[in-house]
This record gives sequence, structure tokens and C-alpha cells, in this order.
Amino acid sequence: MLNVPPQAFPAPGSQQRVAASGRAKVPLKPGRSLMDWIRLTKSGKDLSGLKGRLVEVTEDELAKHNKKEDCWICIRGFVYNVTPYMEYHPGGEDELMKAAGTDGTDLFDQVHRWVNYESMLKECLVGRMAVKPIAAPKGMLSEKGVLGASTKDVMLSYDWFQTDSLITIVIYTKQKDLNAELVIVDCQDKRLRGEIIIDDHSYLVEVDLYHAVQEDLAVNITEKVGKVEIILKKNDNIHWKMLGQPLENHNTFIKRTDRGQFYRKCKLVSKTEVTHDTKLFCLMLPKSTHLRVPTGQHVYLKQIIAGTEVVKPYTPVLPFLPLDFKEPSCHDGAHIYLMIKIYSCGPFTQALEHLQVGDYISVSNPEGNFKKSQVQASEDLFLLAAGTGFTPMVKLLDFALTEVSCLRTVKLMFFNKTEDDILWRNQLEQLALKDKRFEVKFILSQPTKDWMGKEGKISSSLLSEFVKRSSKYSKVLICICGPTPFTEQGVQYLKDLGYSQEEIHAFTA
Ligand code: FAD
Ligand code: NAD
Repeated sequence: MLNVPPQAFPAPGSQQRVAASGRAKVPLKPGRSLMDWIRLTKSGKDLSGLKGRLVEVTEDELAKHNKKEDCWICIRGFVYNVTPYMEYHPGGEDELMKAAGTDGTDLFDQVHRWVNYESMLKECLVGRMAVKPIAAPKGMLSEKGVLGASTKDVMLSYDWFQTDSLITIVIYTKQKDLNAELVIVDCQDKRLRGEIIIDDHSYLVEVDLYHAVQEDLAVNITEKVGKVEIILKKNDNIHWKMLGQPLENHNTFIKRTDRGQFYRKCKLVSKTEVTHDTKLFCLMLPKSTHLRVPTGQHVYLKQIIAGTEVVKPYTPVLPFLPLDFKEPSCHDGAHIYLMIKIYSCGPFTQALEHLQVGDYISVSNPEGNFKKSQVQASEDLFLLAAGTGFTPMVKLLDFALTEVSCLRTVKLMFFNKTEDDILWRNQLEQLALKDKRFEVKFILSQPTKDWMGKEGKISSSLLSEFVKRSSKYSKVLICICGPTPFTEQGVQYLKDLGYSQEEIHAFTA
């Protein structure tokens, strides 16, 4: 609802400017860009309308401020006067007005809960709600560190022990199939944070450690019994009387969506050219972080732009496609690769462009609703990608071709404006030669006259020609990602062609 919606960013004059749904961007008036908003917030103008006072807001009072020219919205217990922001909201005034005079937390969470509205709207803060309208549901552990069955039928417990040189924290989840992607551990200064993902819930161990530890940590997972060991190296070989001081969310088991985003600083170790406007950024995780981004999920990058925190999503890729003639390099869990298109008018990507090797950038925990099991159950996989919508397809291709034995065909239909825009064209062509199950088709919307391949944009006829079951009853999965209008049109065409909702996965924020 607030800030910059991630899913569409039409270039001036592009068809993308035609908003296909409430969530697409609407054309903003000149002088109403993100940078203009940031400038206004720094101008000293009274944006809350209360001349710097903060007030306690009752529900009745909030409800009175429900007009465009006087619009208050509550998010997570804080009330903002969003009237000055209306014209700057990339999703448009109407979308913002859906929450006018009410608690917009749920609506906000549905659309983009990751947006740092606190920073974007800090000058619009009116005050707190008199009675906090939402309380995050928390499953608290008992003193012994055991969580009984709560909203889900799970039993979680943790324990810790020490040797002269090590501290080991053991988390027992009793979940089968726990794997490295479901365990996220960070240790910054003396703050240890270990998160275990169980379906749409998350369990957290979060303590301020009793003593300092060394930077590198180890995580061991015993998948069959769902046991996680976090092994820390003591700085000094002294006996610890306790693990540490519990932090606010220690021992809680709550819905993932109720946890705030957590960021760690990653070092940019290389930036290489992919095309004229797209680069591959290699970020190195701190030694004190254990994080694997699952196939089909994205992370958020956070940067301070002109004094304001701005957050955008990016989908990690691999350093290259699964071509066995390449040596595996940093494909090791310690690095995150991002393929990012730099827009000349895009504040966030312009700031990324100026990032130097050796600089740091904040990277969030992964998010996304794609499940590998969707691919494991299919015989034919169709990937429809437009522009950087190719990014989720990279890990998907790797997973499908290297780990899913029942797949008969994997076809990528890749839409771009020109030949120069095609990402990893060589690698894709080589992969098609190497693996007979894989086929790639390039479709250009603005080709030069010597282009011999397919032309146009996504259409029913292109899709009916390309997306075909290899046999009458074969199980298919069709994944689609690109600019919002591309994805929305594609999904509609596929449904019109008779494919069911379960057979289609659209990547969105
Ligand atoms: P923006 O401010 O978004 O501007 C981009 C362009 O759109 C500019 O030309 C600008 O002039 C124009 N524009 C901006 N606002 C408007 C408006 N209201 N009306 C008309 N035109 C406008 N991108 C990648 O490159 N790689 C990825 O791996 C990737 N993964 C993503 C994953 C997800 C889940 C999502 C939702 C998006 C992903 N994106 C990815 C897109 C990315 O998040 C950013 O949107 C993108 O980098 C642009 O950010 P920006 O601030 O630089 O540009
Ligand atoms: P682009 O502007 O270069 O366009 C690439 C192709 O997309 C075009 O050639 C055309 O075939 C198609 N296209 C563009 N606008 C269209 C429209 N209005 N209708 C139908 N087809 C259209 O693309 P880009 O600049 O690389 O943008 C990629 C988009 O993918 C961004 O919007 C980005 O947010 C999105 N993306 C989303 C995710 C995700 O949700 N997980 C991941 C990566 C990228």
C-alpha cells in the first residue's frame, strides 16, 4: 500500500504504464517520484499536520480522518497522516484510500509487508492508537524451553551445553524433512538469532549471549529427527553460567508474517556485466550467518537513499546455469548472486550501480510461496519469463534438470525487447544442446529487421503453440514471471487455454 510497489516499474511511455490491476503502478504526476517524496520529508514541512506533536488516537478519532484531504491510517499500532503522501504513492490514491480511517495493517501486509513504512512515513506520524489494535499472536515457551502444541501440532524445545571452547545450542523440532533452507542463524556482536521455519510458522531462539564468541559458527542439521545444532566458538575458554539474556522474541513460535524482517550486512565481492544494463552482483554472507535462499524465493535489499531506508526485492540466481563444463566456484552457501537490471531513472538500482566492491549492503531473510514439491510432481515444466523475470527460473532450471527425474520436458519461453536484452543467451543455448529435455525460445517485442526468431508479446496463440502436454494426461507446471501486466495476461491466457490454477505458478512479491 505504501512506498514503491515492487512488481511493476514501467519506463516512460511503456505499455506497462497501463495499470492492469489495483496493484500495478499508476502514472505519477511530474515531481511526485520517490526522490521527490524523500526531499519533501527533509524540507521541514509539517507533514503530520500536528506541528510535531504526537497524540493518542482512539478508533473513533481515526475513523473521522477518512477523506483524501484528511486521511489517517493505522499500521501496527501507529497512526500516519497519509494525505501529503497520496500523490507520491506509486500504487495510486485509490489503493491508499482503501485503508482510510482504519487499521490498514492487514491490507498492508497482504500487499507488501516488507516495505519500511516507518522510515518512509516518519514525518507523517500522528501518534499511537490509544488501544493497540493488533497484538502479534505469540506461542511462548515455558521456562524449560519447551513449546507445547499451539496453532500447529508441533513440539519444540531447545537446550544448550558447553565444553571448554564451544557452546552448542540444540533445537529439537521433531519435524521430518527439516533441511538447511529452513534454518537461519545469525550472530552479530553478542546477539544470537536462530530461526527455524516450519510451514508458515517460525520458531526463534534469540539471546544476548553471556560472553563474546568468535565470528564463524557452524550449523548441523539431523534431518530425520529434525534436530538443529548451532555451534559457537568461545572467545575465551571460560565457563558460562548461562547462555545469555533472552531477547524480546526469544522462544516464540508465531506465523512468519508476524515476524519483522531481519537483515544482515553482506559484502559485495564482485559485480560483472551480463548485458548492457544488467549486472551479476555477488554478495558474501558474514561468517556468522547460516542462510540458504530456497528455489523460487527472493530476498530484500535495504539501502539508505538520501537519508531514507528503501527496500526492494531481488531473486537470487546461481553464478551460471548447470553446464558441466564449468567449474563450480562460489556455489557454496556463503555467497548470494543477484542479477539486477539498472534503470537510469531507478533510485534503488542507481544506488546499487554505485556500490563498490568491498562495500556492504543489508540483505533480508528469504520470502516467497513457491514450493519445490510443485516441480517434483510434474512431468512437463514450462517457464514463461520476461526481462529480469528470468531470475527465479535460474534456480528452478537447475533444480528441475539436476534433481527431478520424472521430468520429460523443460521449456523456457523468454520474452525480451531486443536481442541485446537477452540474459545468459549463450548459456541457455548451450544448455539446450547439452540436455535434450530442455528447449528455449526467445521472443522479441522490439526486434531489429534481421531477427529471424519469434516476434511480439505474450499472446494466446504463442502460448498455445508452446505450452503443450507431452502426453494427454501428463502433469504440467507452468511458471510465469515478469512485469505485472505480462504475468497477469499470461495467467489469463493459460486459464483460457484450459490450464487449472494448480498448474500455474505466478511469481509475484
Ligand atoms: P523504479 O523506481 O522502480 O523505476 C524503474 C523504472 O520505472 C524507471 O525507468 C522509472 O522511471 C519507472 N517508474 C518508476 N515509478 C513509476 C511510476 N509510478 N509510473 C511510471 N513509471 C515509473 N529486478 C531485478 O533486476 N532482478 C531481480 O532478481 C528482481 N527480483 C524481483 C523479485 C520480486 C519478488 C519482485 C517483485 C521484483 C523483483 N525485481 C527484480 C524488481 C526490483 O525489485 C525493482 O523493482 C527494480 O530493481 C527497480 O527498482 P528501482 O528503484 O531502481 O526503479
Ligand atoms: P522489460 O521492460 O525489458 O520487458 C521485457 C518483456 O516483457 C517485453 O519484451 C515484453 O515481452 C514483456 N512486457 C513488458 N511490458 C509488457 C506489458 N505491458 N504487457 C505484456 N508484456 C509486457 O522488462 P524488465 O524491465 O526486465 O522488467 C522485468 C519485470 O519482472 C519487473 O517488473 C520486475 O519487477 C519483475 N520481476 C518480478 C519477479 C518476481 O515477482 N518474483 C522477479 C524478477 C523480476
